Amino acid sequence: MNQFAMNFMHVLSGKEVSHSVYEDLKSRIDFLKKKGVVPSLAVILVGDDPASNVYVQSKSRQFKKMGLHSDTITFPEETSEAGLASFIEELNQDDTFHGILVQLPLPKQIDEKRIIRAISPEKDVDGFHPENLGLLTAGNPRFIPCTPKGILRIFSHYDISPSGKHIVILGRSNIVGRPMSILLSLKNDSGNGTVTLCHSRTADLKSFTKKADILVVALGSPELIDESYLKDGVVIVDVGINRVSDDSETRYKLVGDVHWESIQTIASYATPVPGGVGPMTIAMLVENTIEAAEQITKLS
Ligand code: NDP
Repeated sequence: MNQFAMNFMHVLSGKEVSHSVYEDLKSRIDFLKKKGVVPSLAVILVGDDPASNVYVQSKSRQFKKMGLHSDTITFPEETSEAGLASFIEELNQDDTFHGILVQLPLPKQIDEKRIIRAISPEKDVDGFHPENLGLLTAGNPRFIPCTPKGILRIFSHYDISPSGKHIVILGRSNIVGRPMSILLSLKNDSGNGTVTLCHSRTADLKSFTKKADILVVALGSPELIDESYLKDGVVIVDVGINRVSDDSETRYKLVGDVHWESIQTIASYATPVPGGVGPMTIAMLVENTIEAAEQITKLS
């Protein structure tokens, strides 16, 4: 049994942690407002993907709740890459906005990498710009991508230290798995883990997951991970958000990449879906936008 092993599983509530993040942010918002600055975010949405629409709406709802400003600018599906890039250039110069977020995925005629590079690194509150990823890799981050940053905050809230632990991450995307693997292996208080990064070409996935003290799952495969992948006492972070059909009024429910019922007697801690990583991603977007406003206006 490792240090985390216990008789029953504890729920790592991202919802609860996000409330404490919002409480802590209030004084920083008040300070900026007294100086005449309202942290403001421009959200660019291209096309009408239903999941993207839901994400954008929940982000702007939270900004409103916190007394912050956010504008969603919607472009049609057939928008050109050049048109989008030149609009971003205008936003880079526009002092009204401290943060710029492009909701992914983008339609296939648009190169996501080029669009991310078009965002000013000082306004890149998602932390996806190569300059910001470089700073993060060097251990000197400007903006940490919201989902991995939210996971680190869950760990610190619940006193879960990655130091000396074997952390296995499933999924190597630029927005979750890869930055997570870098952050957890950095030589600092929220890092110092020994990290294994797995993906679809990993041979014998279970041989890695069964050795994990902490398992971060970001696959996009509904309920794939069950107890047969786990060792006793593992801490599980389930990043996945998947819509699966059911007989409810909405005709679907949200599930993670982890099979919740089957992990109850083996995991020591786990994030639920919904109410785990999702609320933290939004909280970290709010925090990064406040940081951007502080840095741009040199007020903090
Ligand atoms: P991507 O599709 O970009 O990446 C998925 C990764 O998982 C890839 O690296 C892929 O490997 C790997 N993978 C897929 N299937 C398997 C498998 N069977 N075995 C091993 N590896 C596999 O996804 P994202 O990182 O963008 O998102 C992952 C999930 O997290 C999604 O459900 C998404 O909705 C959710 N999400 C949730 C957020 C939140 O706030 N809670 C935020 C962002 C995402 P390969 O690289 O080889 O293709």
